[in-house]
Amino acid sequence: MTRISFENVSWEYRTGEGLAISNVDLDIESGSFIGITGPSDAGKSTFCRLVPGYIPHYFDGDLEGSVRVGGREVSEASIGELAERVGMLFENPFDQLTGASTTVIEEVAFGLENLGLERETIVERSVESLRRVGIEELIDRNPQRLSGGQSQRVALASVLAMAPDVLVLDEPTSQLDPHGAEAVFEIVAGMKDQGYTVIVVSQRLDRLTPHLDRLLVIDEGEIAHDGTPQEVFTTPGVEEVVDVPQSVRIGRRLREEEYVDSGGIPLTVGAAIEELRPQIESAADGGSAATADPVAEVERSANDPRVAFENVHHVYEGV
Ligand code: ADP
Repeated sequence: MTRISFENVSWEYRTGEGLAISNVDLDIESGSFIGITGPSDAGKSTFCRLVPGYIPHYFDGDLEGSVRVGGREVSEASIGELAERVGMLFENPFDQLTGASTTVIEEVAFGLENLGLERETIVERSVESLRRVGIEELIDRNPQRLSGGQSQRVALASVLAMAPDVLVLDEPTSQLDPHGAEAVFEIVAGMKDQGYTVIVVSQRLDRLTPHLDRLLVIDEGEIAHDGTPQEVFTTPGVEEVVDVPQSVRIGRRLREEEYVDSGGIPLTVGAAIEELRPQIESAADGGSAATADPVAEVERSANDPRVAFENVHHVYEGV
């Protein structure tokens, strides 16, 4: 069980211009699933680097305040000690992979070799990590000959092999094609159920939002918003710093214009469609709908978020 706490934390890179993180105070409960979003250069990566101790261990600068992971002050703990608690996945898998392994299993086992474990344990843990990310079949493949999505999963398996209970994922899908990104998101969404504390940074959180316990918005080095996704996305002015999901925008407009008076704003395409169903049905009954059978059309498109949103918009315009 690893609780993370930030007490009045500020950090300035030696070569930077001012504070990259400023006066951050927060606690992250063990087992929670936290999303972090915000504009570019806001300090999101810097925040991530503080959790496994990369800051201050690998970066030059001035740290103020206290970052504790499992009660241990990160500036006092060794990187090795922290690596057994916190795993970090970078944006680009090629920054993470060693480039020295000839097989995927060798790559995944790399960190474990340095822990001085028995050969059998190393193999067992490596295979189990590959199974967790769904790529056991790549075990003998050359890591240099994989797609971006496969490489990111190998990188994640290498992190999981170290058996951390906190995972920090910094824009884990931004370098991947939609198919690869979807595969990684699916794994990440399932990690909370496996007991991990997950901190994931993304500028577009649509896919993960329904799974999040808490969403932090970092802006200019500070925690600008902190709450459930519902709370954060409905805070006035939040769209200036965050890419608010389209389902939330539609939900907000429906409430503003008093078409819907229920509480929870829809966080997913499916929830937005469900919320619109009565509107669509009454529009169809009144003959004012834009299409012959709008309910069927929206339902047909529900597996394709892009088309579904177009249809939801279309129907909304007709409401
Ligand atoms: P984000 O992840 O939100 O894009 P970062 O944490 O990367 O933001 O950056 C926050 C600020 O710190 C920016 O002004 C950026 O230029 C600066 N910064 C980030 N990394 C470094 C570094 N390694 N050295 C110096 N300045 C940095």
